[in-house]
Amino acid sequence: MSEQNKSNQRSEGLGELYEESHHVNVGGETIHAKRMGGRFRQYKDLVWLFWIGYLVLPFLRVNGEQIVLFDIPARQFHFFGATIYPQDIWMLSFVLVLLAMMLFGITAIAGRVFCGFFCFQTVWTDWFVWIEEKIEGTPRQRRKLDESSWNSEKITKRGTKYAIWSLISLVTGISFAAYFMDSYELLKDLVTFDAHIAAWTTLILFFLGTFILAGFMREQVCFWLCPYARIQSVMVDRDSIIPSYDIARGEPRGKLKKGVNDDRKGDCVDCNQCVVVCPTGVDIRESALQEGCIMCGLCVDACDTVMEKIGKPKELIRYASDNEMQGQAQPALLKRPRVIIYLAISLASILAIIYGLASIPALELHVVHERQPLYVKMSDGSIQNTYTIKILNKLPEALDVKVTIEGVAGADIIDLPDVLTLDTAKVVPYTIRIKAQQAGMAGDNVPVIFKVEALNDPSINEEYESFFIGPSR
Ligand code: SF4
Ligand code: SF4
Repeated sequence: MSEQNKSNQRSEGLGELYEESHHVNVGGETIHAKRMGGRFRQYKDLVWLFWIGYLVLPFLRVNGEQIVLFDIPARQFHFFGATIYPQDIWMLSFVLVLLAMMLFGITAIAGRVFCGFFCFQTVWTDWFVWIEEKIEGTPRQRRKLDESSWNSEKITKRGTKYAIWSLISLVTGISFAAYFMDSYELLKDLVTFDAHIAAWTTLILFFLGTFILAGFMREQVCFWLCPYARIQSVMVDRDSIIPSYDIARGEPRGKLKKGVNDDRKGDCVDCNQCVVVCPTGVDIRESALQEGCIMCGLCVDACDTVMEKIGKPKELIRYASDNEMQGQAQPALLKRPRVIIYLAISLASILAIIYGLASIPALELHVVHERQPLYVKMSDGSIQNTYTIKILNKLPEALDVKVTIEGVAGADIIDLPDVLTLDTAKVVPYTIRIKAQQAGMAGDNVPVIFKVEALNDPSINEEYESFFIGPSR
């Protein structure tokens, strides 16, 4: 039989296989996946570094300043030397749009790789399972321990495992809380039991959340709690590159018999290795796009190892699109409308964030004109308007400034010292009056520009346009 005929014959089975019902563990069993080496295992391990960085980051300081701090009571966000105030928070909306578009774009290109590699639930579960394996042994030994009665061995192993899980959960909780307060103070306050109730609450919630979700619920979180798993089908299409079993090449599957070379069989030797390594218990051969598949690629590693051992080409399971598996050409990324749209919105968000960061002013100035009364006519014939001005100094140190006005000839500010000292990060309101002769006004309502300027550096300044009102002529 020619290779082409064999391929056609195998492809006929494709439809039937896609119609098979998928096995989903709904929590009735504990999955003890086998750990195997390989390309994708290495990628997953590299992502560990990113999350270890997350745990360490709030404890890093430059010149004594915590490099990332969401200081909610002071309404400031310190991020690698930049300080962002509530007035600049519009940038946060672009950050959220950017993150969402990146997630959508990555899903359109490569399915749920975020789940498989980057998601904290997946990564923490991976850590917990690694510890479990070190203490309790191989999947077979772990299953045996699950079934055994509570003897000294089981108590010792479980106790050790839970103690290490607790330690990681505790570190996770402390690190998260440290993003919102002075991290060194937090450590000191926790040791002396003087921490704020908000810190204890955050710590306890994160401790329990990490311990239960990563230790016990594991892949069930992906099935039942994660909304992303539900909406991914909207973003994935036939061009998305996802872990797929090459049915045409693999079927009909059959066990390998020593000395027997049956060329009616496909390349899958039904060794089940792709299933036993799967952290969610999925059999990728049933269908490429399954609810339980987090697209971690571990089945690709497992099958590649098997193919290497039996001397067959690798990639019986591989990252491939549905179209590619059907023998159709894969379109270039930039020819896919949804990828272009996600990319365009991401780029626009990045530009907006860069513009925002580059244009954050050192001073913030707001002026409110008093409405009751709009103006006062003085006995000497001059006109007086009252204003409340609010100045925010965004620099990390106090600043001496002067306030001047322009726009009304001969106008003077009264009730305001020549030099104002502005503390850092504080909004200070001043009530001031401006006095002018009606002769200096070009109408009964004229613009007036308030200008705040640093004494030691005139480039640090801010303006605000208000108005000056007088009686009708
Ligand atoms: S089927 Fe493969 S890619 Fe999907 S979750 Fe299991 S091991 Fe990962
Ligand atoms: S690991 Fe490869 S050869 Fe083994 S059962 Fe899975 S697909 Fe077949």
